[in-house]
Amino acid sequence: MDCVFCGIANGTVPARLLHEGERVLAFADLNPQAPTHILIIPRAHYASIQDVPAAEFGIIGELTAVAQDLARARGIWPAGYRLVVNAGPDGGQTVGHLHVHLLAGRQMTWPPG
Ligand code: AMP
Ligand code: ZN
Repeated sequence: MDCVFCGIANGTVPARLLHEGERVLAFADLNPQAPTHILIIPRAHYASIQDVPAAEFGIIGELTAVAQDLARARGIWPAGYRLVVNAGPDGGQTVGHLHVHLLAGRQMTWPPG
């Protein structure tokens, strides 16, 4: 399977890694949309959040835990941040491997684009 985020997870695609856990990885987004723009991914391939079976929802908690840790360690909290999970074409998903965007460092706007 040709998946760029699986490539980052197995070390064949370079990335600025910010967290390397047993099941979760975080790295800098190549095209940052905020002063801090980090992607948090499971090492296991799920095409989208819609493809995570209920029996494996624990991984979603692990992604959230890494977001909390990064926000704490990088002084993002308590100023705040935004977590985004795009899913499917209307959701604006462009990479077919589940990822959570952690955006911070500027005032976010609403509604999102
Ligand atoms: P999404 O549109 O939610 O699927 O987000 C995909 C994100 O992946 C975008 O913000 C891209 O800038 C980012 N991206 C794509 N390829 C890479 C890469 N090789 N390294 C880091 N970020 C990437
Ligand atoms: Zn993948």
